[in-house]
Amino acid sequence: MTTTAKHLIGGRWTGEPERERHNPARPGEIAVRAPAGDESTVDRALAAADDARRAWAATPAPARGAILLDAADVLRSRHEEVATDLVQEEGKTLAEARGEVRRAIDVLRYFGAHGWQRTGESFPSGTPDTSVVTRPEPLGVAGLITPWNFPIAIPAWKLAPALVSGNTVVLKPAELTPASATHLAAALVAAGLPAGVLNVVHGEGSVVGAALAADERVRALSFTGSTEVGLRLHQVLSARRARVQLEMGGKNACLVLDDADPAAAARIVAAGAFGLTGQACTATSRVYCTPGVREAFTEALVKEAARFSPGDGLAAGTTMGPVVSSDQLATDLAAVERAREQGASVATGGRADGPFLPATVLTGVAHDHDVARREVFGPVVAVLPAADYDEGLALVNDSPYGLTAGLCTRDLALAHHFAAHAEAGVVKVNRPTTGLDLNVPFGGVKDSSSATFREQGPAAVDF
Ligand code: NAD
Repeated sequence: MTTTAKHLIGGRWTGEPERERHNPARPGEIAVRAPAGDESTVDRALAAADDARRAWAATPAPARGAILLDAADVLRSRHEEVATDLVQEEGKTLAEARGEVRRAIDVLRYFGAHGWQRTGESFPSGTPDTSVVTRPEPLGVAGLITPWNFPIAIPAWKLAPALVSGNTVVLKPAELTPASATHLAAALVAAGLPAGVLNVVHGEGSVVGAALAADERVRALSFTGSTEVGLRLHQVLSARRARVQLEMGGKNACLVLDDADPAAAARIVAAGAFGLTGQACTATSRVYCTPGVREAFTEALVKEAARFSPGDGLAAGTTMGPVVSSDQLATDLAAVERAREQGASVATGGRADGPFLPATVLTGVAHDHDVARREVFGPVVAVLPAADYDEGLALVNDSPYGLTAGLCTRDLALAHHFAAHAEAGVVKVNRPTTGLDLNVPFGGVKDSSSATFREQGPAAVDF
Protein backbone atom coordinates (compact mmCIF):
# COMPACT_ATOMS: atom_id res chain seq x y z
CA MET A 1 0.00 0.00 0.00
CA THR A 2 1.25 3.49 -0.79
CA THR A 3 1.40 6.00 2.04
CA THR A 4 1.72 9.76 1.74
CA ALA A 5 4.13 11.88 3.70
CA LYS A 6 3.76 15.64 4.14
CA HIS A 7 5.78 18.49 5.52
CA LEU A 8 4.67 19.63 8.97
CA ILE A 9 5.01 23.41 9.27
CA GLY A 10 3.47 25.53 12.00
CA GLY A 11 1.06 22.71 12.90
CA ARG A 12 -0.18 22.21 9.32
CA TRP A 13 0.49 19.27 7.02
CA THR A 14 1.49 20.68 3.65
CA GLY A 15 3.22 19.92 0.36
CA GLU A 16 2.28 18.06 -2.79
CA PRO A 17 3.53 14.47 -3.13
CA GLU A 18 6.16 15.17 -5.80
CA ARG A 19 8.62 12.37 -5.03
CA GLU A 20 8.06 8.63 -5.08
CA ARG A 21 9.94 6.12 -3.00
CA HIS A 22 9.69 2.55 -4.27
CA ASN A 23 9.54 -0.48 -2.03
CA PRO A 24 13.14 -1.78 -2.00
CA ALA A 25 11.93 -5.39 -1.94
CA ARG A 26 9.46 -4.84 -4.79
CA PRO A 27 10.93 -2.07 -6.90
CA GLY A 28 7.80 -1.91 -9.11
CA GLU A 29 5.68 -0.76 -6.15
CA ILE A 30 5.52 2.77 -4.80
CA ALA A 31 5.83 2.63 -1.01
CA VAL A 32 5.48 6.31 -0.22
CA ARG A 33 4.92 9.66 -1.91
CA ALA A 34 6.44 12.73 -0.33
CA PRO A 35 6.91 16.41 -1.07
CA ALA A 36 10.30 17.84 -2.00
CA GLY A 37 10.97 21.00 -0.02
CA ASP A 38 13.30 23.80 -1.01
CA GLU A 39 14.93 26.78 0.71
CA SER A 40 11.59 28.56 1.08
CA THR A 41 10.04 25.51 2.79
CA VAL A 42 12.94 25.46 5.25
CA ASP A 43 12.51 29.19 5.81
CA ARG A 44 8.82 28.74 6.68
CA ALA A 45 9.59 25.83 8.99
CA LEU A 46 12.28 27.83 10.79
CA ALA A 47 9.98 30.84 11.11
CA ALA A 48 7.34 28.58 12.71
CA ALA A 49 9.91 27.05 15.08
CA ASP A 50 11.22 30.50 15.99
CA ASP A 51 7.70 31.80 16.68
CA ALA A 52 6.89 28.83 18.92
CA ARG A 53 10.14 28.89 20.85
CA ARG A 54 9.33 31.26 23.75
CA ALA A 55 5.98 29.74 24.66
CA TRP A 56 7.42 26.22 24.52
CA ALA A 57 10.41 27.19 26.66
CA ALA A 58 7.96 28.67 29.19
CA THR A 59 5.88 25.46 29.30
CA PRO A 60 6.78 23.51 32.46
CA ALA A 61 9.15 20.64 31.72
CA PRO A 62 6.74 18.03 33.18
CA ALA A 63 4.03 19.28 30.80
CA ARG A 64 6.44 18.99 27.87
CA GLY A 65 7.33 15.49 29.02
CA ALA A 66 3.64 14.53 29.34
CA ILE A 67 3.20 15.19 25.61
CA LEU A 68 6.06 12.82 24.81
CA LEU A 69 4.50 10.19 27.07
CA ASP A 70 1.14 10.57 25.34
CA ALA A 71 2.85 10.40 21.94
CA ALA A 72 4.42 7.10 23.02
CA ASP A 73 0.90 5.78 23.71
CA VAL A 74 -0.32 6.97 20.30
CA LEU A 75 2.60 5.28 18.57
CA ARG A 76 1.98 2.13 20.61
CA SER A 77 -1.61 2.04 19.37
CA ARG A 78 -0.32 2.26 15.77
CA HIS A 79 2.66 -0.02 16.25
CA GLU A 80 1.83 -2.56 13.54
CA GLU A 81 0.82 0.00 10.91
CA VAL A 82 3.99 2.04 11.49
CA ALA A 83 6.23 -1.06 11.47
CA THR A 84 4.64 -2.25 8.21
CA ASP A 85 5.18 1.13 6.53
CA LEU A 86 8.77 1.11 7.79
CA VAL A 87 9.38 -2.29 6.13
CA GLN A 88 7.90 -1.02 2.88
CA GLU A 89 10.01 2.10 2.67
CA GLU A 90 13.29 0.94 4.23
CA GLY A 91 13.28 -2.83 3.73
CA LYS A 92 13.95 -4.21 7.24
CA THR A 93 12.27 -7.45 8.22
CA LEU A 94 8.98 -7.00 10.05
CA ALA A 95 10.57 -8.29 13.27
CA GLU A 96 13.37 -5.72 12.97
CA ALA A 97 10.88 -2.96 12.14
CA ARG A 98 8.68 -3.85 15.12
CA GLY A 99 11.77 -3.65 17.31
CA GLU A 100 12.70 -0.27 15.91
CA VAL A 101 9.22 1.20 16.46
CA ARG A 102 9.32 -0.25 19.97
CA ARG A 103 12.62 1.59 20.46
CA ALA A 104 11.05 4.88 19.34
CA ILE A 105 8.19 4.35 21.84
CA ASP A 106 10.64 3.61 24.66
CA VAL A 107 12.75 6.66 23.75
CA LEU A 108 9.66 8.90 24.00
CA ARG A 109 8.86 7.35 27.38
CA TYR A 110 12.42 7.73 28.66
CA PHE A 111 12.67 11.42 27.75
CA GLY A 112 9.01 12.06 28.65
CA ALA A 113 9.75 10.95 32.19
CA HIS A 114 12.79 13.22 32.20
CA GLY A 115 10.42 16.21 32.27
CA TRP A 116 10.03 15.59 36.00
CA GLN A 117 13.75 15.34 36.59
CA ARG A 118 15.02 18.35 34.75
CA THR A 119 17.06 20.23 37.27
CA GLY A 120 20.08 22.46 37.68
CA GLU A 121 22.76 22.37 40.35
CA SER A 122 23.29 24.37 43.49
CA PHE A 123 26.66 25.59 44.72
CA PRO A 124 27.88 27.04 48.00
CA SER A 125 28.57 30.73 47.71
CA GLY A 126 31.49 32.61 49.24
CA THR A 127 29.12 35.54 49.94
CA PRO A 128 26.96 35.36 53.10
CA ASP A 129 23.17 34.94 52.69
CA THR A 130 23.60 33.99 49.05
CA SER A 131 22.73 30.84 47.19
CA VAL A 132 24.01 29.99 43.72
CA VAL A 133 22.07 27.77 41.35
CA THR A 134 22.30 26.90 37.69
CA ARG A 135 19.19 26.67 35.58
CA PRO A 136 19.04 24.49 32.47
CA GLU A 137 17.77 26.56 29.56
CA PRO A 138 16.85 25.61 26.03
CA LEU A 139 19.09 26.73 23.18
CA GLY A 140 16.24 27.77 20.86
CA VAL A 141 15.67 26.11 17.51
CA ALA A 142 17.33 22.74 16.94
CA GLY A 143 17.93 21.36 13.43
CA LEU A 144 17.91 17.56 13.16
CA ILE A 145 19.15 15.74 10.05
CA THR A 146 18.68 11.96 10.00
CA PRO A 147 19.63 8.97 7.81
CA TRP A 148 17.45 6.23 6.33
CA ASN A 149 18.74 3.22 8.20
CA PHE A 150 16.80 3.76 11.46
CA PRO A 151 14.08 5.99 10.04
CA ILE A 152 11.97 6.27 13.20
CA ALA A 153 14.36 5.48 16.07
CA ILE A 154 17.00 8.07 15.15
CA PRO A 155 14.51 10.94 14.67
CA ALA A 156 12.94 9.90 18.01
CA TRP A 157 16.20 9.87 19.93
CA LYS A 158 17.13 13.27 18.55
CA LEU A 159 13.81 15.08 18.89
CA ALA A 160 12.68 13.72 22.26
CA PRO A 161 15.58 15.22 24.29
CA ALA A 162 15.39 18.45 22.27
CA LEU A 163 11.67 18.87 22.95
CA VAL A 164 11.66 17.92 26.62
CA SER A 165 14.48 20.43 27.17
CA GLY A 166 12.27 23.18 25.74
CA ASN A 167 13.74 23.59 22.28
CA THR A 168 11.69 23.76 19.12
CA VAL A 169 12.72 21.57 16.22
CA VAL A 170 13.00 21.40 12.45
CA LEU A 171 13.56 17.79 11.40
CA LYS A 172 14.85 16.85 7.97
CA PRO A 173 14.41 13.07 7.48
CA ALA A 174 16.30 11.06 4.85
CA GLU A 175 14.90 11.19 1.32
CA LEU A 176 14.45 7.40 1.19
CA THR A 177 12.33 7.16 4.33
CA PRO A 178 9.82 10.01 4.69
CA ALA A 179 6.91 7.88 6.04
CA SER A 180 8.45 6.76 9.33
CA ALA A 181 9.36 10.29 10.43
CA THR A 182 5.87 11.42 9.44
CA HIS A 183 4.32 8.76 11.70
CA LEU A 184 6.48 9.97 14.58
CA ALA A 185 5.48 13.59 14.02
CA ALA A 186 1.81 12.60 13.69
CA ALA A 187 1.95 10.84 17.07
CA LEU A 188 3.32 14.02 18.68
CA VAL A 189 0.67 16.17 17.01
CA ALA A 190 -2.07 13.75 18.16
CA ALA A 191 -0.64 13.97 21.68
CA GLY A 192 -1.15 17.74 21.68
CA LEU A 193 2.24 19.18 20.74
CA PRO A 194 1.58 22.89 20.07
CA ALA A 195 1.86 24.15 16.50
CA GLY A 196 5.38 25.08 15.41
CA VAL A 197 7.18 23.19 18.18
CA LEU A 198 8.06 20.37 15.79
CA ASN A 199 8.36 20.99 12.06
CA VAL A 200 9.30 18.43 9.43
CA VAL A 201 10.65 19.24 5.98
CA HIS A 202 11.23 16.49 3.40
CA GLY A 203 13.53 16.74 0.40
CA GLU A 204 17.07 16.53 -0.87
CA GLY A 205 19.88 16.75 1.64
CA SER A 206 21.89 19.11 -0.52
CA VAL A 207 18.91 21.50 -0.65
CA VAL A 208 16.82 21.12 2.52
CA GLY A 209 19.59 19.85 4.80
CA ALA A 210 22.06 22.43 3.58
CA ALA A 211 19.55 25.30 3.98
CA LEU A 212 18.75 24.15 7.52
CA ALA A 213 22.38 23.92 8.56
CA ALA A 214 23.21 27.30 7.04
CA ASP A 215 20.45 29.25 8.79
CA GLU A 216 21.38 31.50 11.72
CA ARG A 217 18.17 30.60 13.55
CA VAL A 218 19.42 27.04 14.08
CA ARG A 219 21.33 27.21 17.37
CA ALA A 220 22.04 23.49 17.59
CA LEU A 221 22.31 20.84 14.91
CA SER A 222 22.30 17.10 15.44
CA PHE A 223 23.26 15.05 12.39
CA THR A 224 23.55 11.33 11.75
CA GLY A 225 24.79 10.18 8.37
CA SER A 226 27.93 9.88 6.30
CA THR A 227 31.27 11.23 7.47
CA GLU A 228 31.63 13.25 4.28
CA VAL A 229 28.42 15.25 4.83
CA GLY A 230 28.89 15.45 8.61
CA LEU A 231 32.33 17.02 8.41
CA ARG A 232 31.04 19.63 5.98
CA LEU A 233 28.20 20.52 8.34
CA HIS A 234 30.65 20.79 11.23
CA GLN A 235 32.46 23.61 9.46
CA VAL A 236 29.23 25.46 8.73
CA LEU A 237 27.94 25.24 12.31
CA SER A 238 31.28 25.92 14.03
CA ALA A 239 31.83 29.03 11.94
CA ARG A 240 28.85 30.64 13.66
CA ARG A 241 29.55 29.00 17.05
CA ALA A 242 26.34 26.98 17.00
CA ARG A 243 26.25 23.71 18.95
CA VAL A 244 26.79 20.62 16.84
CA GLN A 245 26.64 16.87 17.32
CA LEU A 246 27.63 14.43 14.58
CA GLU A 247 27.27 10.65 14.37
CA MET A 248 28.87 9.36 11.20
CA GLY A 249 30.41 6.31 9.57
CA GLY A 250 32.10 3.24 11.01
CA LYS A 251 34.37 0.34 10.07
CA ASN A 252 33.68 -1.73 13.13
CA ALA A 253 35.94 -4.64 13.94
CA CYS A 254 35.66 -7.74 16.06
CA LEU A 255 38.71 -9.62 17.34
CA VAL A 256 38.26 -13.38 17.83
CA LEU A 257 40.89 -15.04 20.01
CA ASP A 258 42.01 -18.68 20.10
CA ASP A 259 40.22 -19.32 23.40
CA ALA A 260 36.80 -18.31 22.00
CA ASP A 261 34.22 -20.93 21.07
CA PRO A 262 34.27 -20.62 17.26
CA ALA A 263 30.57 -21.43 16.84
CA ALA A 264 29.51 -18.89 19.48
CA ALA A 265 31.86 -16.25 18.02
CA ALA A 266 30.40 -16.90 14.55
CA ARG A 267 26.86 -16.36 15.88
CA ILE A 268 27.92 -13.08 17.49
CA VAL A 269 29.72 -11.84 14.38
CA ALA A 270 26.91 -12.90 12.02
CA ALA A 271 24.31 -11.06 14.12
CA GLY A 272 26.49 -7.93 14.04
CA ALA A 273 27.38 -8.19 10.35
CA PHE A 274 24.16 -9.39 8.71
CA GLY A 275 21.35 -8.29 11.04
CA LEU A 276 19.52 -5.25 9.59
CA THR A 277 21.07 -6.29 6.22
CA GLY A 278 24.38 -4.97 7.56
CA GLN A 279 22.98 -1.45 7.18
CA ALA A 280 23.84 -0.27 10.68
CA CYS A 281 26.53 2.24 11.53
CA THR A 282 27.59 -0.20 14.27
CA ALA A 283 27.64 -3.29 11.99
CA THR A 284 30.67 -5.60 12.17
CA SER A 285 32.60 -5.38 8.93
CA ARG A 286 36.10 -6.61 9.86
CA VAL A 287 36.92 -9.72 11.89
CA TYR A 288 40.50 -10.38 12.98
CA CYS A 289 41.18 -13.98 14.04
CA THR A 290 44.21 -15.42 15.78
CA PRO A 291 45.70 -18.53 14.05
CA GLY A 292 44.23 -21.26 16.28
CA VAL A 293 40.60 -20.23 15.71
CA ARG A 294 40.62 -18.80 12.20
CA GLU A 295 39.69 -21.90 10.23
CA ALA A 296 36.98 -23.18 12.57
CA PHE A 297 35.55 -19.68 12.98
CA THR A 298 35.42 -19.02 9.22
CA GLU A 299 33.67 -22.34 8.61
CA ALA A 300 31.15 -21.57 11.35
CA LEU A 301 30.60 -18.04 10.02
CA VAL A 302 29.81 -19.36 6.54
CA LYS A 303 27.23 -21.71 8.14
CA GLU A 304 25.72 -18.82 10.11
CA ALA A 305 25.52 -16.72 6.93
CA ALA A 306 23.27 -19.39 5.41
CA ARG A 307 20.70 -18.74 8.16
CA PHE A 308 20.09 -15.25 6.78
CA SER A 309 17.45 -15.75 4.16
CA PRO A 310 17.03 -12.59 2.07
CA GLY A 311 13.59 -11.55 0.92
CA ASP A 312 10.71 -9.12 1.29
CA GLY A 313 10.63 -8.08 4.94
CA LEU A 314 6.87 -8.72 5.09
CA ALA A 315 7.11 -12.28 3.70
CA ALA A 316 7.07 -15.25 6.07
CA GLY A 317 10.49 -16.86 6.37
CA THR A 318 12.51 -13.74 5.50
CA THR A 319 15.35 -13.21 7.94
CA MET A 320 17.18 -10.46 6.02
CA GLY A 321 15.61 -7.63 4.04
CA PRO A 322 16.74 -6.14 0.72
CA VAL A 323 19.52 -3.60 0.24
CA VAL A 324 17.91 -0.20 0.70
CA SER A 325 18.39 1.11 -2.87
CA SER A 326 19.90 0.23 -6.22
CA ASP A 327 22.66 2.81 -5.58
CA GLN A 328 23.55 1.19 -2.27
CA LEU A 329 23.48 -2.27 -3.91
CA ALA A 330 25.86 -1.04 -6.62
CA THR A 331 28.18 0.27 -3.86
CA ASP A 332 28.07 -3.07 -2.01
CA LEU A 333 28.79 -5.08 -5.16
CA ALA A 334 31.58 -2.74 -6.20
CA ALA A 335 33.21 -3.25 -2.78
CA VAL A 336 33.03 -7.04 -3.23
CA GLU A 337 34.44 -6.76 -6.76
CA ARG A 338 37.28 -4.52 -5.59
CA ALA A 339 38.07 -7.00 -2.80
CA ARG A 340 38.27 -9.78 -5.40
CA GLU A 341 40.62 -7.67 -7.55
CA GLN A 342 42.84 -7.13 -4.52
CA GLY A 343 43.05 -10.86 -3.88
CA ALA A 344 40.11 -11.75 -1.62
CA SER A 345 37.99 -14.87 -2.02
CA VAL A 346 34.25 -14.90 -1.61
CA ALA A 347 33.54 -17.70 0.87
CA THR A 348 29.79 -17.20 0.54
CA GLY A 349 27.39 -14.64 -0.97
CA GLY A 350 28.74 -11.81 -3.10
CA ARG A 351 26.14 -12.00 -5.88
CA ALA A 352 22.84 -10.15 -5.86
CA ASP A 353 19.49 -11.59 -6.81
CA GLY A 354 17.40 -8.56 -7.70
CA PRO A 355 17.58 -6.18 -4.72
CA PHE A 356 18.76 -8.94 -2.39
CA LEU A 357 22.39 -9.46 -1.49
CA PRO A 358 22.99 -12.61 0.55
CA ALA A 359 25.14 -12.52 3.65
CA THR A 360 28.67 -12.25 2.25
CA VAL A 361 31.89 -13.50 3.83
CA LEU A 362 35.24 -12.50 2.31
CA THR A 363 38.46 -14.32 3.15
CA GLY A 364 42.04 -13.72 2.05
CA VAL A 365 41.61 -10.02 2.83
CA ALA A 366 44.66 -8.03 3.88
CA HIS A 367 44.47 -5.17 6.35
CA ASP A 368 45.39 -2.58 3.69
CA HIS A 369 42.72 -3.73 1.22
CA ASP A 370 39.94 -1.25 0.57
CA VAL A 371 37.28 -3.56 2.01
CA ALA A 372 39.13 -3.50 5.34
CA ARG A 373 39.48 0.30 5.34
CA ARG A 374 36.31 1.78 3.82
CA GLU A 375 32.75 1.55 5.06
CA VAL A 376 30.54 -0.71 2.88
CA PHE A 377 27.17 -0.39 4.70
CA GLY A 378 25.82 -3.75 3.53
CA PRO A 379 25.84 -7.43 4.59
CA VAL A 380 29.53 -7.92 3.83
CA VAL A 381 32.16 -8.99 6.34
CA ALA A 382 35.88 -9.56 5.83
CA VAL A 383 37.87 -12.14 7.81
CA LEU A 384 41.51 -11.18 8.38
CA PRO A 385 44.45 -12.70 10.24
CA ALA A 386 46.02 -11.43 13.46
CA ALA A 387 49.09 -13.10 14.96
CA ASP A 388 47.97 -12.62 18.56
CA TYR A 389 45.94 -10.36 20.85
CA ASP A 390 48.41 -7.46 20.69
CA GLU A 391 48.56 -7.41 16.93
CA GLY A 392 44.77 -7.85 16.74
CA LEU A 393 44.20 -4.87 19.00
CA ALA A 394 46.61 -2.76 16.91
CA LEU A 395 44.77 -3.75 13.71
CA VAL A 396 41.35 -3.02 15.21
CA ASN A 397 42.64 0.44 16.13
CA ASP A 398 44.31 1.12 12.80
CA SER A 399 41.27 2.71 11.19
CA PRO A 400 40.13 6.26 10.56
CA TYR A 401 36.85 5.30 12.26
CA GLY A 402 36.10 4.43 15.89
CA LEU A 403 32.43 3.71 16.47
CA THR A 404 32.15 0.19 17.94
CA ALA A 405 34.57 -2.69 18.51
CA GLY A 406 34.09 -6.25 19.73
CA LEU A 407 36.15 -9.01 21.30
CA CYS A 408 35.36 -12.74 21.57
CA THR A 409 37.33 -14.39 24.35
CA ARG A 410 37.01 -16.23 27.66
CA ASP A 411 39.93 -14.27 29.12
CA LEU A 412 38.59 -11.71 31.57
CA ALA A 413 41.88 -9.83 31.85
CA LEU A 414 42.08 -9.37 28.07
CA ALA A 415 38.42 -8.33 28.00
CA HIS A 416 39.20 -5.52 30.44
CA HIS A 417 42.35 -4.59 28.55
CA PHE A 418 40.40 -4.43 25.27
CA ALA A 419 37.64 -2.30 26.83
CA ALA A 420 40.29 0.16 27.97
CA HIS A 421 42.41 0.19 24.80
CA ALA A 422 40.12 -0.34 21.81
CA GLU A 423 39.76 3.04 20.09
CA ALA A 424 35.97 3.04 19.80
CA GLY A 425 33.08 4.83 21.46
CA VAL A 426 31.41 1.51 22.27
CA VAL A 427 33.23 -1.72 23.15
CA LYS A 428 31.43 -5.07 23.40
CA VAL A 429 32.78 -8.35 24.78
CA ASN A 430 31.15 -11.56 23.56
CA ARG A 431 28.29 -9.52 22.11
CA PRO A 432 27.56 -8.22 18.60
CA THR A 433 28.95 -4.77 17.83
CA THR A 434 25.37 -3.67 17.08
CA GLY A 435 22.62 -3.07 19.65
CA LEU A 436 22.76 -0.54 22.46
CA ASP A 437 20.61 0.46 25.40
CA LEU A 438 18.68 3.69 24.97
CA ASN A 439 19.68 5.12 28.35
CA VAL A 440 23.42 5.00 27.67
CA PRO A 441 25.47 7.73 25.98
CA PHE A 442 26.25 6.71 22.40
CA GLY A 443 28.91 7.95 20.01
CA GLY A 444 32.26 7.22 18.49
CA VAL A 445 35.77 8.61 18.25
CA LYS A 446 37.95 9.71 15.31
CA ASP A 447 35.98 10.13 12.05
CA SER A 448 32.88 8.42 13.48
CA SER A 449 31.66 11.34 15.60
CA SER A 450 32.26 14.94 16.49
CA ALA A 451 34.24 15.30 19.68
CA THR A 452 31.41 17.30 21.20
CA PHE A 453 28.33 15.70 22.74
CA ARG A 454 27.10 12.11 22.92
CA GLU A 455 23.59 11.05 21.92
CA GLN A 456 21.00 9.20 24.00
CA GLY A 457 20.55 8.94 27.73
CA PRO A 458 21.39 11.97 29.88
CA ALA A 459 24.09 13.02 27.39
CA ALA A 460 21.42 13.89 24.83
CA VAL A 461 19.83 16.30 27.29
CA ASP A 462 23.21 17.90 27.99
CA PHE A 463 23.48 18.58 24.27
P1 NAD B 1 23.96 10.77 4.18
O1 NAD B 1 25.06 11.53 4.81
O2 NAD B 1 23.93 10.67 2.72
O3 NAD B 1 22.56 11.41 4.59
C1 NAD B 1 22.20 11.64 5.94
C2 NAD B 1 21.24 12.81 5.99
O4 NAD B 1 21.95 13.99 5.58
C3 NAD B 1 20.06 12.68 5.05
O5 NAD B 1 18.91 13.22 5.64
C4 NAD B 1 20.49 13.52 3.87
O6 NAD B 1 19.41 14.03 3.12
C5 NAD B 1 21.23 14.64 4.54
N1 NAD B 1 22.20 15.33 3.68
C6 NAD B 1 22.84 14.85 2.58
N2 NAD B 1 23.61 15.82 2.04
C7 NAD B 1 23.48 16.91 2.82
C8 NAD B 1 24.05 18.22 2.80
N3 NAD B 1 24.90 18.60 1.83
N4 NAD B 1 23.71 19.09 3.76
C9 NAD B 1 22.86 18.71 4.76
N5 NAD B 1 22.29 17.50 4.82
C10 NAD B 1 22.59 16.61 3.87
O7 NAD B 1 23.93 9.33 4.88
P2 NAD B 1 22.90 8.12 4.59
O8 NAD B 1 23.28 7.49 3.31
O9 NAD B 1 21.48 8.57 4.77
O10 NAD B 1 23.22 7.15 5.82
C11 NAD B 1 24.27 6.24 5.81
C12 NAD B 1 25.44 6.78 6.60
O11 NAD B 1 25.00 7.14 7.90
C13 NAD B 1 26.53 5.74 6.82
O12 NAD B 1 27.78 6.33 6.62
C14 NAD B 1 26.36 5.34 8.27
O13 NAD B 1 27.52 4.86 8.89
C15 NAD B 1 25.88 6.61 8.88
N6 NAD B 1 25.17 6.34 10.12
C16 NAD B 1 25.79 6.64 11.29
C17 NAD B 1 25.17 6.40 12.50
C18 NAD B 1 25.87 6.73 13.79
O14 NAD B 1 25.21 6.80 14.82
N7 NAD B 1 27.18 6.94 13.80
C19 NAD B 1 23.89 5.84 12.52
C20 NAD B 1 23.27 5.55 11.31
C21 NAD B 1 23.93 5.82 10.11
